[in-house]
Amino acid sequence: MPHMHLLLILADEDKIRDLESIDLIVSAELPDETFDSRLHEIVKAIMINGPCGVLNPDSACMADCVCTNGYPKQFREATTENVDGYPVYRRRDNANRVTINGNVVDNRWIVLYNPYLTKKYNAHINVGMR
Ligand SMILES: [Zn+2]
Repeated sequence: MPHMHLLLILADEDKIRDLESIDLIVSAELPDETFDSRLHEIVKAIMINGPCGVLNPDSACMADCVCTNGYPKQFREATTENVDGYPVYRRRDNANRVTINGNVVDNRWIVLYNPYLTKKYNAHINVGMR
C-alpha cells in the first residue's frame, strides 16, 4: 500500500498549545452522523483500530492478548496537555457508536485524525501533536 510518514516541526512561536485549538486540529472521536455524515462514514471505514481487544482478540494488531497499538484507549472528557510530551486527546463516552463486523465500537477505538484532511483526501491520515 502506498504510504508516507511526514513529521512537521513547528517553530516555538507557532506551536499549538491551547486545548481548544488542539481539539479543532486533532480528533479521536467518531463524528456525529447527523452533523457530518461524510466524515462519519470515512472515519467508520478507515480510522478505527481493529476493532480489537475483547471485541476481537484475533485482530491483526493483537499480540499476547494486548493491542500492539494501545487500543482501546480510555474515555476522556477533555484533552489534557502534554503527558510525556504528548497531549492526551478527548474521547468522550457519548452516544456516537458504530457497528463493525457485529462489534459495537465507540471513541476508544478511533485513530487520531484531522477532520479537514480526512475529508479532503478520504484517506487514513493518522495525526498527532507533540
Ligand atoms: Zn488494536
